[in-house]
Amino acid sequence: FGALESFDPEIAGVLVSELDRIRGGLQLIASENMSSPEVLTALGSTLSNKYAEGYPGRRYYGGCSEVDKAETLAIDRCKALFDADHANVQPHSGASANQAVYGAFMQPGDTILAMALPMGGHLTHGTKVSFSGKWFNAVHYGVDKQTEDIDYAEVERLAKEHQPKVILAGGSAIPRLIDFEFFRKLADEIGAIFWVDAAHFIGLVAGKAIPSPVPHADVVTFTTHKVLRGPRSGALVCKEEHAAKLDKAVFPMMQGGPQMHTIAAKAVNFKECATPDYQDYAKRVVENASVLATALGEKGIRPTTGGTDTHLSLHDLQGVGVTGADAEARSDAAGIVLNKNAIPFDPQKPNIASGIRVGTPCVTTQGMGTDEMREIAELIAKAVTQGDADPDHAVSKEVRAGVTDLVTRFPAYSRG
Ligand code: PLP
Repeated sequence: FGALESFDPEIAGVLVSELDRIRGGLQLIASENMSSPEVLTALGSTLSNKYAEGYPGRRYYGGCSEVDKAETLAIDRCKALFDADHANVQPHSGASANQAVYGAFMQPGDTILAMALPMGGHLTHGTKVSFSGKWFNAVHYGVDKQTEDIDYAEVERLAKEHQPKVILAGGSAIPRLIDFEFFRKLADEIGAIFWVDAAHFIGLVAGKAIPSPVPHADVVTFTTHKVLRGPRSGALVCKEEHAAKLDKAVFPMMQGGPQMHTIAAKAVNFKECATPDYQDYAKRVVENASVLATALGEKGIRPTTGGTDTHLSLHDLQGVGVTGADAEARSDAAGIVLNKNAIPFDPQKPNIASGIRVGTPCVTTQGMGTDEMREIAELIAKAVTQGDADPDHAVSKEVRAGVTDLVTRFPAYSRG
């Protein structure tokens, strides 16, 4: 670090101030986490230099003996962790892993059935602004008005009516468990591929805190940087019958050279996830999310679906008369980092939104437990309902003092 500091003080300064930012606030973005120093060490290594197009033992470049070892370890650990027939650890991100599924199973113009973005889906699930909605015909299901959970009757009706090639389950703002058996049965009935985008919850599966989609789905894509706590990247696991097709779709169809430093970091992360410590962590993430969701609900910040089974909850702010955008700004001013989010049937535009999404991966990594979740709910409620976007406002200062107290007791990156 000393060499970087003297050569490029501006970037060195950003590295330090970002660490200060992480340490100084409460990080409640549901899709973020704090990777271990071991994962970060692999990321910042000379493996970043290596070109290794192809797969272990079948490369298009010389000099791959060492990176082959790293990728083989990553593949073997990933397969063991998820009890999967096959793993591809090369996708650069969740979106790249998803591209590979379209590439493997669909032709332009083919139909996919997926969850709508405003109901909890993801951009790559057929929205018009993404390749997935421009090149494929996406039909979208949503949630039931009463339960605010997936509308399974609608999924079935749309599947039978549109006969999609692929049925997709998963998304970015789904607080409840997904009925994978239902989707599998439906896909079999109409002869579709069943794909699960487990980006958000795969860490909970790795930690055995929630049921796995792997036995049910043809393919499961995921990111490695959310609850899983690995490097910023993606991966997929699939049934053996689809292995060759998906490998070809990742490389050479969608990507060039794999990022070997990131693959090594994924290997480290998969090893971490197989430990009892990580399994305990995953269970605490869920427990904390449930307590936080309930405690916010008691303050009038209603959790959609009545709570959560996972690491995140989605809250409807209409009862307290605040928009998602204002809640995000007020929280930010007080040192609480969360995001505005559309809620099902949201009357607001997406950039304003009526909700917030909160997640517990980071604060649980810091060692916080259920008592601290109740404290966090108090702080959020105060910032959202009485606070201001001005960091110098009295309420912002008061809440920030509470945040500072919490992060001093549970520091981020206190080791390494
Ligand atoms: N799929 C889901 C469900 C996600 O939530 C995300 C990211 O938030 C992605 C895919 C895309 O991942 P990435 O940002 O790594 O491309």
